[in-house]
Amino acid sequence: MLTDYHLHLQPDGVPEREAERDAWEACGGHLSAEWIGRYAQRAGSRAVDEIAITEHVHRFSEARDWLDNPWWQAEATEDVDAYCDAVCAVGRDLPVILGIEMDWLPGRERDIAGFLEGRPFDIVLGSVHWLDGSAAVDHPEYLAFDTRPAEQVWSDYLEALISAASSGLFDVLAHIDLPKKFGHHFPPHLTGRLEDATRVIAGSGLAVECSSAGLRKQVGEVYPDPDLLAALCRAGVPATLSSDAHAPDGVAADFPTAVAVLKGAGYATITRYRGRVPEQVEI
Ligand SMILES: [Zn+2]
Ligand SMILES: [Zn+2]
Repeated sequence: MLTDYHLHLQPDGVPEREAERDAWEACGGHLSAEWIGRYAQRAGSRAVDEIAITEHVHRFSEARDWLDNPWWQAEATEDVDAYCDAVCAVGRDLPVILGIEMDWLPGRERDIAGFLEGRPFDIVLGSVHWLDGSAAVDHPEYLAFDTRPAEQVWSDYLEALISAASSGLFDVLAHIDLPKKFGHHFPPHLTGRLEDATRVIAGSGLAVECSSAGLRKQVGEVYPDPDLLAALCRAGVPATLSSDAHAPDGVAADFPTAVAVLKGAGYATITRYRGRVPEQVEI
């Protein structure tokens, strides 16, 4: 079985969405059955059995005040319950499950728990994108590497990742070596801290995703890199498989490489979710 468990219905950023708007408007909107159905259709054509739509929490007005950052706040225009209803409705006919990509934001634990509570999510991704409102690890406009030494960024990121893993709020940690996106590779002397993170993740029961998205970024490799993924496999951490696509055409992009990396790291199964309950299925 193959899954793509990290998908967005639109690009990030107001001008970026404006540029693509015609695509979903022609289908009746980004929450229409036709638009979401296109993701499922593309998955089927690439031998992927099931997909999860995992919209960014920053898109929803409920999360607008969680981060003191103008880009984040301009993004927060959507209604989360309309989103949940739309994806669940499509999921009654197609192999589509409801997820969300939730940011880890220290101090917002209660807001995050409140947001998730009572909503019918099948899978919750946990992502560290922001170290604070002015320092992101993957946003070019607020890039932490522009204002902190690279080793500091990685060290701050690992601390945040360990806190996220310990929080009990998530099912899967997404793109866990994301700071390498623009080519800032992991500083070898922090290896001990990375091993600590691996131990915490293994003890938390979380899965990590093997994401093909990094192959299409400056770094040109999967998240996490093959050695780290193998270490996670040895530690007993389950895996998911994902593309992090932001349009139907990107579903399952570069999966032959990602699947080869997963298998090379030692994985024979990936994790499937229903109602946030994991189950191992053979790749
Ligand atoms: Zn992300
Ligand atoms: Zn994403």
